[in-house]
Amino acid sequence: MTGTPGTAPVVIVGGGHAGFHVALFLREEGSDVPIVLVDRLDGPPVQRPPLSKAMLLSDTEPRLEFRKPEFYAARGITLLRDTAARIDRDRRVVRLGSGGSLGYRELVLATGCRARETTVPGSGLAGIRVLRVPDDARAVRDALAAARDVVVVGGGFIGLEAAAAARRRGCAVTVVESLPRVMQRVVSAGISGHFRALHEAQGVHVRTGTTVRAFRGDTRVRQVELADGTRIPADLVVLGIGVEPEAGLARECGLAVGDGVEVDGALRTSDPLISAVGDCASFPAGDGRRRRLESVQNAADQARVLAARLAGRTVPFDAVPWFWTEQFSAKLQIAGLLPDRETETVRLAGDDAFSVLHFHRGRLVAVESVNRPVDHVAARRLLAGEARLSPDDARDPQFRLSDAVAARTG
Ligand SMILES: Cc1cc2nc3c(=O)[nH]c(=O)nc-3n(C[C@H](O)[C@H](O)[C@H](O)COP(=O)(O)OP(=O)(O)OC[C@H]3O[C@@H](n4cnc5c(N)ncnc54)[C@H](O)[C@@H]3O)c2cc1C
Repeated sequence: MTGTPGTAPVVIVGGGHAGFHVALFLREEGSDVPIVLVDRLDGPPVQRPPLSKAMLLSDTEPRLEFRKPEFYAARGITLLRDTAARIDRDRRVVRLGSGGSLGYRELVLATGCRARETTVPGSGLAGIRVLRVPDDARAVRDALAAARDVVVVGGGFIGLEAAAAARRRGCAVTVVESLPRVMQRVVSAGISGHFRALHEAQGVHVRTGTTVRAFRGDTRVRQVELADGTRIPADLVVLGIGVEPEAGLARECGLAVGDGVEVDGALRTSDPLISAVGDCASFPAGDGRRRRLESVQNAADQARVLAARLAGRTVPFDAVPWFWTEQFSAKLQIAGLLPDRETETVRLAGDDAFSVLHFHRGRLVAVESVNRPVDHVAARRLLAGEARLSPDDARDPQFRLSDAVAARTG
């Protein structure tokens, strides 16, 4: 399949959260260009957040597909699945692993991330799993039904969600985290402490500040050996040690790549006919640094900006980042980004349901909410506007975030 630039499609490599939304929003923009969505996975595009949550908790599979196959057919979106891709920029074609090539008028890289691998001795043993694609989650879910001792390596969002699911399914669970506190890269110390206590109250053993020295077993993993020599029994190990951007395609064809595929504020790579969106894209953050975000919000918001540009409209990329995780009875929602530096914090009351407001130089920069969805929604609205809220305002016992939004918009 090839085409002259006039008839050639917009080709999107990577049909995950960002790739799917670029196609969807292009149609919503009224564009009728042919669209081809290429992915090495089989089946229609899927969402991933349930893979470490609902998918592990029950044998009834949650819905993962964004839309049924008929949706794509009806909108002139061709799905090329189960095929890898390579880029030939000189000829302006994508070469498909399944054979043939595809000319493009615009090429979008939405290749996401891959799970980070470990080189620790024994990491090739059976029973050691990652959570990235639906088949990974199915394998972990099936293994949980038979497992007694589960070790989760990595105390980030995905690791702790898997730990909570394993514990809920009756397994003995240990979390091993190399940093001093869980979720250290993404949440404040207070929230780390809250979630550690929550896990421990449910019987999860949390070991922070230590690393895995080896996985032990014959053909299957039987034990996890820590740096201090402690051996923890394990018939299932879930690795949640982070991800790396899938930037190989971009690197191979000579695009600028750092921590991800480098794009400008309009999501263009160093080749103006090629754009990148979602987890794989490293974009200018406005403070002179580059940033890469791993979240469905970022994937969908960048897709919206890119689809508008491809349809001839300019929309600025200035969305407020937000994230969430669900562990046991707690839903944590974060609006904004916590700066590396110390922040002045104000806690809005409650033990199991509370919010922590972070101020930097007197400005609200992020809000962490535990089981307070109303605060989270208000925080996103405040951060999207001129967040004129002082720490002293927030310390008033009568203060509510939703009132601050009403005052700003009223
Ligand atoms: C288990 C799990 C739980 C998560 N939970 C949350 C959550 O609670 N909240 C949240 O905001 N985010 C969550 N995320 C992250 C979120 O899913 C990602 O940020 C989002 O999917 C990013 O979208 P993307 O399109 O950039 O990448 P992806 O959705 O990963 O899609 C990338 C696609 O590109 C394809 N691909 C890659 N290379 C090639 C190639 N060379 N040829 C063809 N196809 C290729 C891949 O097969 C994949 O389908 C979770 C992720 C995982 C794995």
